[in-house]
Amino acid sequence: MFDRTTLPYGVFSTGDGPTRIGVAVEDGVLDLAAHLGPAFERPSLNSFMAEGPQRWAEVREQVRGLAQTADLLHDVTLHLPFEVADYVDFYASEQHATNLGRMFRPDGDALLPNWKHLPVGYHGRAGTVVLSGTDVVRPCGLTLPGPEHRASAKLDVEVEVGFVVGVGSELGKPVPTGDFADHVFGMVLVNDWSARDIQSFEYVPLGPFLGKSFATSISPWVVPLDALDRVPAPVQDPPVSSYLEVDGDWAFDLTLSLQRNGTEVSRPPFAGMYWTAPQMLAHMTANGASLRTGDLFASGTVSGDEVDQRGSFIELTWNTEFLADGDVVTISATTGSGRYLGEVTGRVLPAPQ
Ligand code: MN
Repeated sequence: MFDRTTLPYGVFSTGDGPTRIGVAVEDGVLDLAAHLGPAFERPSLNSFMAEGPQRWAEVREQVRGLAQTADLLHDVTLHLPFEVADYVDFYASEQHATNLGRMFRPDGDALLPNWKHLPVGYHGRAGTVVLSGTDVVRPCGLTLPGPEHRASAKLDVEVEVGFVVGVGSELGKPVPTGDFADHVFGMVLVNDWSARDIQSFEYVPLGPFLGKSFATSISPWVVPLDALDRVPAPVQDPPVSSYLEVDGDWAFDLTLSLQRNGTEVSRPPFAGMYWTAPQMLAHMTANGASLRTGDLFASGTVSGDEVDQRGSFIELTWNTEFLADGDVVTISATTGSGRYLGEVTGRVLPAPQ
């Protein structure tokens, strides 16, 4: 349950009523349309997010007051919080990249030569980003042996942290790391569902495609950046190119929890990620690619040094055990001091007959 200081934003409705922007306060929801006016009677956070950091700070100050005094709603339907524009997924955990490198390329170096020079990423499928609670149908695809078209036998999850762009940028103008907080509105938790057998056959040479694009789940509440605890990032060696240099502490101190059918199987630590979110933002715009309101970029699987800190089943079981039909997977997060930051959940349905 969220406390009275985190105050994340979401979109909800009651009965047959219109969708509205709300704020989670303990076990209730603060209706911003009722308290701050019709600008908050919206189907998504996008118009609010586009207004920029000065407006975000003003509204957050008002919300802090309202959260202490206003009546809260308790029976609401949550919706996808923002309209996803583009979706990018990175690969920013050295431990995860090393584990997968060892499994997929046992005879080569675990990390490829580019990995410590830039945050490796790919463009995912924005249209299949779904709200927490949405069932996920086991995908079919070409897998070995064969290849034959069959239901994936290696359905997996990836425990990730996602960042949501509020303010877009101009085509042709890179966004420097120092402008991160001028553009990024907040954080969601992400489950990047992955079919490892489809992925391992298709991914050469252009990267993930159908093994990833069938569904990506996000949490319903977007946590504002200033509700996150920041700590120093790990030292990067070799030094990065100047466009990836960062001033200040931009690692976020949060611990994730991966649960399968109600049992915790892993606690991945996010603060130790090799690449930070401002570096991801700078990298994805370094060629002049523009940002749009609603862009989502995710960290890639969060894995720590210990076995029980790995953020995917392929790492936890070393490519031996995956999800069964009916399994429910939940990812949640807390700050370093134990403050709740939300959760994303989903259930696996059988492949189509
Ligand atoms: Mn991923």
